[in-house]
Amino acid sequence: PTEPYDDENIFAKILRGEIPNKTVYEDDHVLAFHDINPQAPHHILVIPKGKYVSWDDFSAKASEVEIAGFVRGVGHVAREAGMVEPGYRLLANIGHDGHQEVPHLHVHIFAGKPLGPMLM
Ligand code: 5GP
Repeated sequence: PTEPYDDENIFAKILRGEIPNKTVYEDDHVLAFHDINPQAPHHILVIPKGKYVSWDDFSAKASEVEIAGFVRGVGHVAREAGMVEPGYRLLANIGHDGHQEVPHLHVHIFAGKPLGPMLM
């Protein structure tokens, strides 16, 4: 089972405005901002505004509107950043074995160069 949501995780603080971020896009359902330690020329994180640790509780507990908002938010960011034609990569690290470091659901968007094969 997914661990309880920790209100002191770093993305919760970003959502509350307690830690600055370089916002790329924001609406009622999502916040997108630049990763502080970019692993590609463009490295953006997209998070739902709701308190979800991982894909598991998000997919089980979020409303249809929240889920649609998150999926559409990721697509919106990629389109607005001009990533569609050259291409991009989505990644979600989930749980211990997935090496998730921040316990608030997030999708990484990598782009800006040919990314090569996915590394495991
Ligand atoms: P995870 O391993 O949980 O999928 O990735 C967490 C990501 O959050 C990492 O890529 C890391 O660089 C990023 N990160 C951690 N702390 C901060 C922060 O305070 N601000 C921003 N913008 N990104 C952060």
